Amino acid sequence: MRFASFLIVSMGLLHAQMNQIEGAKIRPHVKFLSSDLLEGRGVGARGGQLAASYIAAQFEAAGLKPGAENGTYLQPVPLRTVEVLAGSQLSATGGGNTIALKWLDDFVGTSHAQTGQAAFDAEAVFVGHGIVAPEYGWNDYAGIDVKGKVVVMFTNEPPSDDPAFFAGKALTYYGRWTYKYEEAARQGAKAAILIHTTPTASYGWQVLRANGRPQPQIRRAEGEPALAFAGWVTTDAGGRILAMAGKTVEALLKAADTKGFRASALAGVRFKGDFRFAVKDIETHNVVGLVPGSDPKLAQEAVVLTAHWDHLGIGEPVNGDRIYNGALDNSTGTAMLIEMARAWASMEPKPLRSAYFVAVTAEESGLLGSRYFAEHPPLPAEKIAANLNFDSFGPHGKVKDVIMTGADRTSFFALVEGVTKRHQLTIKIDTHPETGGYFRSDHYSFARFGVPAFSVNGGSDYVGKPAGFAAEVGKKHAASYHQPSDEYADDWDFSGMEQFARFGFALGTEIANLEKLPERINAK
Ligand SMILES: [Zn+2]
Repeated sequence: MRFASFLIVSMGLLHAQMNQIEGAKIRPHVKFLSSDLLEGRGVGARGGQLAASYIAAQFEAAGLKPGAENGTYLQPVPLRTVEVLAGSQLSATGGGNTIALKWLDDFVGTSHAQTGQAAFDAEAVFVGHGIVAPEYGWNDYAGIDVKGKVVVMFTNEPPSDDPAFFAGKALTYYGRWTYKYEEAARQGAKAAILIHTTPTASYGWQVLRANGRPQPQIRRAEGEPALAFAGWVTTDAGGRILAMAGKTVEALLKAADTKGFRASALAGVRFKGDFRFAVKDIETHNVVGLVPGSDPKLAQEAVVLTAHWDHLGIGEPVNGDRIYNGALDNSTGTAMLIEMARAWASMEPKPLRSAYFVAVTAEESGLLGSRYFAEHPPLPAEKIAANLNFDSFGPHGKVKDVIMTGADRTSFFALVEGVTKRHQLTIKIDTHPETGGYFRSDHYSFARFGVPAFSVNGGSDYVGKPAGFAAEVGKKHAASYHQPSDEYADDWDFSGMEQFARFGFALGTEIANLEKLPERINAK
């Protein structure tokens, strides 16, 4: 009986705490973080540093303990940009012909070696989709040595309707281009070139072209295997190169999709690269706050709540506006994180496990801040009970549905369903698993290490709004996505953010109070 009454007391307490989270308290954070003063919270820029300082101050004021190194709230995330300089050359030769590729028109890319220059003249090997997946009996590198060579491949994965083979229609991590480069480096390739096609990439060349400006990378440890060049070529350029070996894009894509595919040299084709890079170090920070758990033993384990604070900074002007404010993306999630942290820190007694509140940097550069945190966590990854991530919430009021792709992969899904029900929400399934959304959010940085992790996303079934409202809102968001027009306005309705901050808080505290540490997940 004592245990039962403790539960009732703690449930009541949980509700009282949860109701302290209010939209009116979320609003001022969003207003400040997305103001022109912060200049779009660019990574390595002054506006970004101001944002990190603000969040750290909020964590301190809320009573969180410093969760980063040396008793501070700021975890340094060492990044580096590698910009391809004018005059750099990439060409393919074969059968006495040379194709000189044009930067941005024919190819884009960078160097992962992070040095000032790279030069190579190496044999080209076609490796299909570049996948080594023993659990699916698939190895595109079987029987071939690509050390020092240039691997050529397609992104995505063999098509499947069978859930037991590359997860059916859903994209697995093996299909992501990031994986292709990681595997090519593990195999010892000198360089890797992806042939772009719109169906395999799920986006057009213009997206890659726009990424021609240098993207930050995590600074590499010395001696770590790295590609001297990691790039993409257009379908057209790829076709011209393959033609030198008597092949076509269509035929090779078909071969890559077929069971029993074998990698082979592109007969007589060599790639010659001569690159100069401008290498620049960037200093940026994850903001880490800690609320220790109340149970001496379980306090050594923790729930980690995350939201990325960074956005795109100052960039190309659109309608005279150069500041990419990133109000929705993601000052909303950051503001919710601050308020969840405040409610958690003022709870007495605290949940059994500890909680880390982490505002991560460099999400927009490819989940780098969360990746760095998961690789350098303040506690071992196997002690992280779960990661809940919050990214981009609409300012249009309450909804009846929530999307939590990957929640069904956890051993505490029954708990998730219970909390969802109590909050009068319905779990909606990811309707486009083929685009691999699960791998494109910060929670995935934790899932890579087997940590049960998913993002909490508000749905689109709005309370008390006319038919067609969701479609209208969706259009508006798509138009301002990653544009200077993603700005705060005084007519923003914060009740939906209040709803999901309360929901995330309830979910987090209940996971923190679970009797057993949740099972590890397989995140591929
Ligand atoms: Zn974004």
